[in-house]
Amino acid sequence: MPELPEVETVRRVLAIQLIGKTIQSSIIRYEKMIKRTSVVDFQSRIVGKKVDSISRKGKYLLFHLGIETLVVHLRMEGKFYLKHPEDVWEKHEHLELAFTDGTSLRYHDTRKFGTFELYAPGETFEGGLGEITYEPIDEAFDRQQFIQKVRKSHRPIKAILLDQSVIAGLGNIYVDETLFRAKVHPERRGNTISIKEIEKIATESRLVLEKAVELGGSTIRSYTSSLGVTGRFQNELFVHTHAGEPCPVCQTTILKTRVAGRGTYLCPTCQKRRK
Ligand SMILES: [Zn+2]
Repeated sequence: MPELPEVETVRRVLAIQLIGKTIQSSIIRYEKMIKRTSVVDFQSRIVGKKVDSISRKGKYLLFHLGIETLVVHLRMEGKFYLKHPEDVWEKHEHLELAFTDGTSLRYHDTRKFGTFELYAPGETFEGGLGEITYEPIDEAFDRQQFIQKVRKSHRPIKAILLDQSVIAGLGNIYVDETLFRAKVHPERRGNTISIKEIEKIATESRLVLEKAVELGGSTIRSYTSSLGVTGRFQNELFVHTHAGEPCPVCQTTILKTRVAGRGTYLCPTCQKRRK
């Protein structure tokens, strides 16, 4: 599953490549990917539309096409490739948007879980989340509210950080790296963590995500970003996937355990269970 930094990288690359292009036609080979509208309606509404901008809400990509908004979720394995309509269709390519300049965008998805949804003006995209929370890299991220939510919780901090109603955008890899840098054990309960430590978690989570976006995300779990962008962030991981190796700070052997149902990596010396 691509995590937020990968999706942000895809957004940035697509924005450079596609803004200003006009859709001439589309081919849809796997119709179940089109949600909310019929395939015919989808195709007729996007034709002739220009890509004005591409934004992101959580892991959703929003293509702003004049009055229409196309919302795409890559799910497990979705990738985009910039091609030409005359290129041979590869196995697992299910959709193409052809542009008036002779280029096209192909959608590749081995699992076929990705979705394409068209929203007309006045229809609101809910973002797949009930309560709106922000990513630590977002200007609207409310640090005080985050601190309060963590302090109130009796759950392990790892579970709290994976909860999209507390903080958005931190997947498993990024939570492990954040807690290592903040020197907080993943099993510590939210209500036992000091305000200073929570401040540190907020700061480190932002730095981790910023770095990951800058490097194009991580390629862990066979995910590779689209359009030739490689995930170099995996070279920057301190603990995640490094079980049995020495901690880069104190040389203690890094452990792998399970917290909140997820494989979790930590340094037992840097991240003490009790403070
Ligand atoms: Zn250590």
